[in-house]
Amino acid sequence: MSHLYEKTASDLAGLLRSGKVSSVEITESVLSRIESLEPAVHSYVNVYPDLAVSMAKKADEDIRRGTAKALTGIPIAIKDNMCLEGRKTTCGSHILANFRPPFDSSVVKLIKDERMVILGSANMDEFAMGSSTETSCWGTTHNPWDIERTPGGSSGGSAAAVACGQAIVSLGSDTGGSIRLPASFCGVTGMKPTYGAVSRFGLVAYASSLDQIGPFARDIRDMSLLLNLIYKHDSLDSTSVEIGHSDFTSFLDNSVSGMTLGLPTEFFGKLTNEDVEKNLSEARRIFEKQGVNFVELSLPSLDYGIAAYYIIAPCEASSNLARYDGVKYGHRAEKFDNMIDMYCRTRAEGFGQEAKRRIMLGTYALSSGYYDAYYLKAAKIRTLITQDFKKAFESCDAILSPVAPAPAFKIGEKIDDPIQMYLTDVFTIPVNMAGLPGISCPAGFSRDGLPIGMQLISSHFQESKLVQLVSAFQRETDHHLKRPAI
Ligand code: GLN
Repeated sequence: MSHLYEKTASDLAGLLRSGKVSSVEITESVLSRIESLEPAVHSYVNVYPDLAVSMAKKADEDIRRGTAKALTGIPIAIKDNMCLEGRKTTCGSHILANFRPPFDSSVVKLIKDERMVILGSANMDEFAMGSSTETSCWGTTHNPWDIERTPGGSSGGSAAAVACGQAIVSLGSDTGGSIRLPASFCGVTGMKPTYGAVSRFGLVAYASSLDQIGPFARDIRDMSLLLNLIYKHDSLDSTSVEIGHSDFTSFLDNSVSGMTLGLPTEFFGKLTNEDVEKNLSEARRIFEKQGVNFVELSLPSLDYGIAAYYIIAPCEASSNLARYDGVKYGHRAEKFDNMIDMYCRTRAEGFGQEAKRRIMLGTYALSSGYYDAYYLKAAKIRTLITQDFKKAFESCDAILSPVAPAPAFKIGEKIDDPIQMYLTDVFTIPVNMAGLPGISCPAGFSRDGLPIGMQLISSHFQESKLVQLVSAFQRETDHHLKRPAI
């Protein structure tokens, strides 16, 4: 490995501390990688070389002074829905095309305090609605493993950037799979932490009861370092839970012998893709070799996960997106006859097709007379899903499942068929519905050389178990070390 952009954050942190390289050198290496690959991959909405280099200089000063922290000087990309003071935060939407937040989101504050280096904002589906990054108003991101395929979504830019060295680590958000799916499609490690574990303050809301910020990295060590940084109580987020955690890296070397993994029959019954099936059974074999026990279990309500999610998420979205009316900030139509006309034109011009579809779905489901039939019913299903998981965790430490039914699909393949697109998240959505932590880790490759991820799910605030299991897996395998030949 000759380039700095190919190295992991923990290797780079070692080099920084020993004075062998500077943060400015690392940052320049990543920035030049961004420049050379952006025309093909398009991971970013905005790249900030000026900001990145000035942050890197400050990081180098800290390192010289001996006040560096674990991730000081490491370049990071943040998804385009996390507020970064004074810089555009667009959510992949025309309606926020020129929005510059006057404040930092809490995760950005933590990144700045750590003296990490912010590279820019990563591309995403509009308002995080999608599974392919194709609904971004800035154009789609391409999968670095195969430019004709999608990187997954909605955090496609964050995943693609880490996969091809356009960032060392990144942050995404996950409402129904938006971290785990792109991690799986791009061959990187990504986690959706427990709901409430990471502050959502300054994260532009999509479906507030499901949204959660989480890390992307090339291996579990880097992912744990970033998780350590963001896994903090925040009084600015009323759903933030005050729960301490130990250093996640302290679980990396623990043995997994004697742990039990659950295999949900409903999930495996749905598997039709041979490559995914093969890699999952191989993963099981690797865990068994390390002394992990397996139990089959049933999660009967999971079958209703997608149907219930596509009521709850659009309901919350229709309410959250009501604020974009052209009055306080964001796009405003230039020509209009009166106030109502201004609202209508602003929203008609500003939102893309998928956002409009969700707003209409949600508004309809919440309208008078329909609430009980749709929203209330979906909320009840959500409770059943949560109970199913709770019961499952009485007999296992974590659940092993696929991340997606198949490897990365082609750009354009599903964009005109929303139902097919929605079905991509069949294995990830129930995890958000129950507020559980879930991780996606490289588990192998398809016959065409596309990455395939596996998902591990644990009970609330048991992220350390996921770290422990994935670390044991990555000690025995080299899938996470493979990089796309781009
Ligand atoms: N694909 C799902 C949706 O469109 C999940 C997206 C997400 O997790 N943000 O709602």
